[in-house]
Amino acid sequence: MILINENYLKLQASYLFSDIGKRVAAFQEAHPDQDIIKLGIGDVTRALPSVCIDALHKAVDEMAEDATFRGYGPEQGYAFLREKIAQVDFQARGAEVAADEVFVSDGAKCDSGNIQELFGQDVAIAVPDPVYPVYVDTNVMAGRTGTWQEGRYQGLTYLESTENNNFVPEPPEAKVDLIYLCFPNNPTGAAATKAQLKQWVDYAGENKALILFDAAYAAFIRDDSLPQSIYEIAGAREVAVEFRSFSKTAGFTGTRCAYTIVPKECMAYDSQGNAQPLHLLWNRRHATKFNGVSYPVQRAAEAVYSVAGQEQVKELSDYYLKNAALISSKMTELGYTWVGGVNSPYIWIKTGTDSWAFFDNLLNKAGVVCTPGSGFGKCGEGYIRLSAFNSHENVEKAMQRIENALK
Ligand SMILES: *Cc1c(COP(=O)(O)O)cnc(C)c1O
Repeated sequence: MILINENYLKLQASYLFSDIGKRVAAFQEAHPDQDIIKLGIGDVTRALPSVCIDALHKAVDEMAEDATFRGYGPEQGYAFLREKIAQVDFQARGAEVAADEVFVSDGAKCDSGNIQELFGQDVAIAVPDPVYPVYVDTNVMAGRTGTWQEGRYQGLTYLESTENNNFVPEPPEAKVDLIYLCFPNNPTGAAATKAQLKQWVDYAGENKALILFDAAYAAFIRDDSLPQSIYEIAGAREVAVEFRSFSKTAGFTGTRCAYTIVPKECMAYDSQGNAQPLHLLWNRRHATKFNGVSYPVQRAAEAVYSVAGQEQVKELSDYYLKNAALISSKMTELGYTWVGGVNSPYIWIKTGTDSWAFFDNLLNKAGVVCTPGSGFGKCGEGYIRLSAFNSHENVEKAMQRIENALK
């Protein structure tokens, strides 16, 4: 008899986006003439930069000729891309990362789930609350949590991100081994300072813990004093792995390209207490279970690092940041407090009411879809997330309608 992995039975069905979908569909049916503006989803809306399209076309043409055709590439990614990533995203900012510490992949979501395979079954894990659900669910699947009780999984340490800590949690009193951090954060949009990250790096060093740092939104940071990479913090190379993605930076959500940095000094420990380099383990895992990102897509990602490419991706994130500024200034005018929106495409708004009640109100009175904060964890109750991923026209229209509805 073939048995299942019963950890999957512990998973709570994520009702968040299906509940949103159902409520939107019901509203649309009752009001067929009302157009609905979606500021709920974390997906980009604008086309790929033209440098990427040109690079894709060129690479496809190369695949059409025997002389320039490429078969399997290096599992870790082509050198042409790994070198540009190391130079432009890290070395140019004073962060030490070498090209052979860059592992190109098809997504930061997959990498953040897959990397767990390298760790022992009984490690103590800390996750943010509110949280990007992937960090939690992948650990449940791997059997690293207990059961779901009163809105949380037993056995996880939840790092509460609230008004009281400006949505950047401090290291816990308890000793944990594996720590998920995401800055600028999804869903809150909060960005961490160097001093705040330093506390975490020090904690990890003292406790022989590992930080999994998700920097998927690094491209939205405009404040030069804020770190874009955890490797801008002294000591991070020993204790942190960083996930990056072209998804939000360059509009690659449907094209798929990302990368993970595993520095050679970064260690985890065997049961005898001997340090083992994670770089070797991740290299082995990647080479065994992954066959690389397609050649044309890696060429498209490489194009992001050309002079024109850097301008075009900056223009893309500027476009969304302008939306974010409009959303946040309008919410301030209406008397709401919020976080994010400045170095992030997300605005996390304190509703003063139940998240779902606020969601329904916005939908019914303004025809605008947001994401109820409670869907991201206990600490999200009483908040909603508005996303800047839409056209200027739609965001302007949405904010005008929200003003009329909430005034
Ligand atoms: C969108 C997002 C990612 C990117 O995932 P991909 O698989 O590279 O598209 C990673 N982390 C967070 C928190 C995100 O919101």
